[in-house]
Amino acid sequence: MSTIPEMYGSLVFTDKVMKNKLPKDIYKALKKTIDNKTHLELDVANAVAIAMKEWAVDNGATHFTHWFQPLTGYTAEKHDSFISPVGDGEIIMEFSGKELIKGEPDASSFPSGGIRATFEARGYTAWDPSSPAFIKDKTLYIPTAFCSYTGEALDEKTPLLRSMDALSKEATQMLNLLGYEDVTNVITTVGPEQEYFLIDEEDYKKRKDLIFTGRTLLGAPAPKGQEMEDHYFGSIRPRVAAYMHDLDEELWKLGIPAKTKHNEVAPAQHELAPVFDTTNVAVDHNQLTMEVMKTVAKKHGLVCLLHEKPFAGINGSGKHNNWSMTTNTGVNLLDPGKTPADNTTFLLFLAAIIRAVDEYADMMRLSVATPGNDHRLGANEAPPAIISIFLGDELTAVVDSIKNGTFFKNGGSVVMETGAKVIPHFTRDNTDRNRTSPFAFTGNKFEFRSLGSSASVATPNIILNTAVAEIISKFYEELKDVSKEGLSEAVHALIKKTIIEHERVIFNGNGYTDEWVKEAEKRGLYNLKSTPDVLPTLLEAKNVELFSKNGVFSEVELKSRYEVHVENYCKVLHIEAKTLEDMLYREFIPAVAKFMDDIATSIIKKKKVSDKIPTCAQEGLLETISAKYEELAAAAVKLEKDIDEAEAMADGIELARYYHDTIFEDMNAARVIADSIEKYIPEEDMPYPSYSKILFYI
Ligand code: ADP
Ligand code: MG
Repeated sequence: MSTIPEMYGSLVFTDKVMKNKLPKDIYKALKKTIDNKTHLELDVANAVAIAMKEWAVDNGATHFTHWFQPLTGYTAEKHDSFISPVGDGEIIMEFSGKELIKGEPDASSFPSGGIRATFEARGYTAWDPSSPAFIKDKTLYIPTAFCSYTGEALDEKTPLLRSMDALSKEATQMLNLLGYEDVTNVITTVGPEQEYFLIDEEDYKKRKDLIFTGRTLLGAPAPKGQEMEDHYFGSIRPRVAAYMHDLDEELWKLGIPAKTKHNEVAPAQHELAPVFDTTNVAVDHNQLTMEVMKTVAKKHGLVCLLHEKPFAGINGSGKHNNWSMTTNTGVNLLDPGKTPADNTTFLLFLAAIIRAVDEYADMMRLSVATPGNDHRLGANEAPPAIISIFLGDELTAVVDSIKNGTFFKNGGSVVMETGAKVIPHFTRDNTDRNRTSPFAFTGNKFEFRSLGSSASVATPNIILNTAVAEIISKFYEELKDVSKEGLSEAVHALIKKTIIEHERVIFNGNGYTDEWVKEAEKRGLYNLKSTPDVLPTLLEAKNVELFSKNGVFSEVELKSRYEVHVENYCKVLHIEAKTLEDMLYREFIPAVAKFMDDIATSIIKKKKVSDKIPTCAQEGLLETISAKYEELAAAAVKLEKDIDEAEAMADGIELARYYHDTIFEDMNAARVIADSIEKYIPEEDMPYPSYSKILFYI
């Protein structure tokens, strides 16, 4: 049994392994490439490839794969073995620099939003040396970017790396101007907290909705939901604890710093949070975490559900994206220090973020828009669709004093007095929690809380990085020609002006209330409720300008992404609608009919014996269910007819709207009736396990 420090990262081609395995000059050249983002020479790549292969083979690998993130939301991989025949039926294990750097997967079956016609099927994967290679299932995984023959990004990683570069460039330039001359680059850091559900595999297998769509399309609430608040942080049951233990170990081997685990609000819901990392690595790790969560669950006879809303009536799952910026000199730019009012650099970056969120709130909303997440945003369990910023008491007071030109007296830390003598004294954090805010300052980072649980965290970070980079560059334009003596005053004036112009986006109150919806409308903030409402904003001139100016997306790439999103929305709803239709016609409606038959037969039998045996209650029940049965059958017919209509329509945003306004409503209408019948149906006559069975028996 190895110790945890020994186990940690044992399947990763870490810096330490590289240092041991590579000749000194090669190691140095590679580090230079990674740190300064310079071009990698082929001889260096060849040497790295040899070292990588040796290490991988020593650790049991037989294959390698370029691992990439196409626009499906999942990762993709194609495995090649290291074997190379050398005649006489002999082989050697081989891997070249060329194979390390470049792959050529056929791109024709990945979403490209029309960037590439099928006859131009060629796509390229290119090694990303800034995210370490690792071994999984006897295969060496090489993180790569994925682009078309003509160089357009077909993945999440390419624009993410571009956005990190944009932010680094602008922030560095600004910091140099402010006198931090030793700053040469700025990285963004991310710690994504991941929520998930665990259910029994046997239950899962009996539900087509979970299998095909990841969420239940039918199902009456269990007698008990989450109202007792006994699951959140509750003691972890043995079967779940065993799963979490295994999961931690698998993640640690892959060098993923899984740190915190606990039960979440809904029954059968849990959370895992890693220690934060560079955004690029954090995004790769989160993709990997989601995958490992699923495979480890299988070993325990469980299924891990990552859908944003697997069950109606209880909380769905999200992902909190903790985000900050750190200089190469180790300074967290969002750390206010003990006296935030005197920390001009912090305040300038804070002002940039406030303005970025205000001006690009539509893009932030877009970055979390998926059909699954539409079920959460705006319901009283996740932040509203309205994007605003929570600053907390102290920062709000600082911001107010800047705005009003008044003196801010630093409060310092407050010692907590619990009233119980044995409890040690500790200081209170200077920001409280506001769980209803989509974008909250939490001490030394911002927490973007609107993300859905299943989506890659790449897109929200692409938007954040780019929007903040853009505003910092605008600030730089305003400050660059100011004299050295005047700089401090100019910075102060800029912070003040920015706060006054953009304070409408700051909101410290309860985001779940109707008053906030009204207030936000008065303030002129976006309230883009559903994915089809949001998607068209991607192509608005100001947003095209934002991404093209910062070199993150060309207009062609944006259009392609728009097409992919629209198409994805329609496909997801189509699958959901077809699944529900199938479950209604082939499972639920027949089950109800059979139960009605049973009641009717029983009534007739009793009547045959004697007219004096009362059948009133049964007749009443039969009447109730019959009436609902008629309604349900009519709702199913309407759904079927409307699906036919959708299938006949042309692709595009109008079709997405039709799915949202008509098909989705049809599905909800049918579900309400079905769920109201479910409570009368004997458990053993139900064609699939009920919410009670799924959520409370693990
Ligand atoms: P919570 O109580 O909300 O779980 P934590 O302080 O435990 O808050 O942090 C949550 C996440 O934020 C963790 O993944 C943590 O590593 C991450 N985090 C902490 N500091 C930073 C930072 N500077 N940049 C990005 N993420 C951070
Ligand atoms: Mg949190």
